[in-house]
Amino acid sequence: MPDLCVLGLGLIGGSVLRAAKAAGWTAWGATRSSDDVTAARAEGFDAGGDLDVALERARAADALVVVAVPLPAVDEVLRRVAAVVPTAKLTDVVSVKGPVHDAVRRLAPRTRYVGGHPMAGTSTSGWGAGRADLFRGAAWVVAVEDDSDMAVLAEVVAFALAVEAHVVPASTAEHDAAVGRISHLPHVLAAVLAAVGADGGPLALALAAGSFTDGTRVAGTRPELTQAMCEGNRTALLDAVDDALGRLGAARGSLASTGGLAKTIEAGHAARKALDAQRSAVRTDVTIDLDSPGARDALRAVGARGGRIVSLDGATARAQTS
Ligand code: NAP
Repeated sequence: MPDLCVLGLGLIGGSVLRAAKAAGWTAWGATRSSDDVTAARAEGFDAGGDLDVALERARAADALVVVAVPLPAVDEVLRRVAAVVPTAKLTDVVSVKGPVHDAVRRLAPRTRYVGGHPMAGTSTSGWGAGRADLFRGAAWVVAVEDDSDMAVLAEVVAFALAVEAHVVPASTAEHDAAVGRISHLPHVLAAVLAAVGADGGPLALALAAGSFTDGTRVAGTRPELTQAMCEGNRTALLDAVDDALGRLGAARGSLASTGGLAKTIEAGHAARKALDAQRSAVRTDVTIDLDSPGARDALRAVGARGGRIVSLDGATARAQTS
């Protein structure tokens, strides 16, 4: 197993460092926040405030470098990576992949980059919010591009599996379209719902129960993070917002004209059942030789069918598809 160098030690980077150590990997990290460095060190982790120092170690050890900072800080961090370890094995955990992929091409073009995105988190930030088991049972998207370095891809897959996530392979564009619908649109809808509820005044908020608190939970996330994530996925998010507005418009029209909401409610109910059915479906095992010429297409096909990689033995990935 390679060593791991984590840049950014907040909720996600801090969880990556904890999980790596728990899984027996040699891992260290650096971050800008002196509070996060102090807290990480106090818990016995190998953390510092100087990215260049952490990257020098990564160069010496040929470590896998994990960028775990918010999207607006990615350019600055990539410049450090390119300056200190120009050919680094590089991945990231940023919630939108297109802008990071483009930034790597622009600012650190010689790195061997394979994007990643763990689909786990909380609405709180910083080292203190992280946990060693944050990724257990979660999906970890690994971006598969036609020019992906398969050896680095295998390392990223191995790390995600070591921290007990399962790997969902997808292209950058497929990832961004999907998360526009299931993550970024929910953040926008949560913001709208929270504001609409608050407009109802103290009585409405006093009556708020599960449907309101569940639906608005992610509106409690640090606004800068949500904004960076949603604005960074503008094109895909616009498609999802258009779809939602169309459905809301149809619901509004129907409510105003006939008083009926059956179509909207029944479509939502069926869609929620489909989610449950996909999650509990019997899965078929598939093996993929990561060294084979068709590996990238085979990986993306697994992801497109809602499947996942569940183990890796050398260059042989075992996947399950529904
Ligand atoms: P976070 O808790 O706010 O932590 C970010 C860390 O990065 C902080 O220590 C921060 O220090 C540091 N940082 C910021 N700019 C930096 C720079 N230029 N150089 C070095 N360190 C810098 O954020 P997070 O929730 O872990 O998010 C990190 C990434 O994970 C984001 O790209 C996000 O999209 C992605 N992600 C988040 C979630 C989630 O649920 N939150 C889930 C999956 C993926 P300062 O405090 O000084 O800024």
